[in-house]
Amino acid sequence: MTAAMQGAHFATVNRLALGEFEVTTVLDGTVLRDAVKPPFCLDRDAAEIAALGAAAHVPVDRFEHPFVPTLVNTGKELVLFDVGFGAKGPSANTGLLRKRMAAAGYAPEDVDLVVFSHVHPDHILGVTIDGAPAFPNARYAIGQVEFDEWKSGARIPASRAANREMFLDLIVPLADQMTFLAPGDRVASGITSIEAYGHSVGHMMFMVESGGKQVLLWGDLANHYVFSLQVPEAKVFFDDDSDLAIAARKRVLDMVATDAIPVIGHHMPFPSLGYVERTADSYRWEPVSYQVRV
Ligand SMILES: [Zn+2]
Repeated sequence: MTAAMQGAHFATVNRLALGEFEVTTVLDGTVLRDAVKPPFCLDRDAAEIAALGAAAHVPVDRFEHPFVPTLVNTGKELVLFDVGFGAKGPSANTGLLRKRMAAAGYAPEDVDLVVFSHVHPDHILGVTIDGAPAFPNARYAIGQVEFDEWKSGARIPASRAANREMFLDLIVPLADQMTFLAPGDRVASGITSIEAYGHSVGHMMFMVESGGKQVLLWGDLANHYVFSLQVPEAKVFFDDDSDLAIAARKRVLDMVATDAIPVIGHHMPFPSLGYVERTADSYRWEPVSYQVRV
C-alpha cells in the first residue's frame, strides 16, 4: 500500500511561555509577491540584491510575505496585537486569524483588548466581520500620533488614499472605546508602548515583560528578514516616511542586537520569533530555536 500524497504542511500557530505570560503568534496568511525590488531595496542595484538573495538562499524575483498577529495572555487579559486582513484581504490565503485562533484555544470573544501597531490594511481590516466587531468583547488601543495623523491626513502619502478611507471607516468610529497611547505608556500589565515612527507616521512597538523575560513586538519595523533587516538603511516602498523609518530601524536593530532581546515581527517568517545578530557591517535574523523553552 502506498500512502496518499498530503500536500505541503506548515505551522500556523506557535506559543511560548514568557514568565507568567503566554505569547502566541498566529499566521493570518501569506501573499506571494513577484519581486523583491520593489518594494524592498529601492535604492540598491540588482547585483547587491542578487548577492543578498544568494547568500540567504532565497530568490529575488518573488517572495512570500507573511502576516502574523500576536496574542499575549497576561493571566488577567488576552491582548491581541493587530487583527489581520479579515474577509477583505487580497486572497483566500489571508484573513485566517480567527479560524486559526480556534486551533490555539481562543475564541474571538476571549479577546479583552485589541492593540493596533499602525493602521495599514493588513493590521486593521480584520477588525470587523460582516460589519460587526470581529472581537466583540474587546476594548481598543492605538498610538495617539498614529490616530491623529491619519485623521488629519496631512502627512499621509497620496499612495495611501484608499488606506486612509479604510481608517476613517473602521478605526475612527472606535474612538469612544479607544485608549490613546503615548510612548512609554503601560498598555496592559507588563506591556509598554515604544515609538518607532516612520513605516507609518505613528507606528508603535510593544515590549512584553514577565518574570524577568522580555520579547519585543516590533510590528513593521523591518518587513523582510533579509532584504529589509540586513540593509536597514535601504529605502522601502511600504515606509510612509522613509527617513524616519530608516532611523527607527537602525536604532531598534542596534538595541535588540546589543541587549539580545528576542523579537516578534509581523512580517518575519513564521513563527516570526527570532534574535537579531550583529554582523561585520549590518545585522542578520536568527530564528529562535529552543532558547525560549530552556
Ligand atoms: Zn504590515
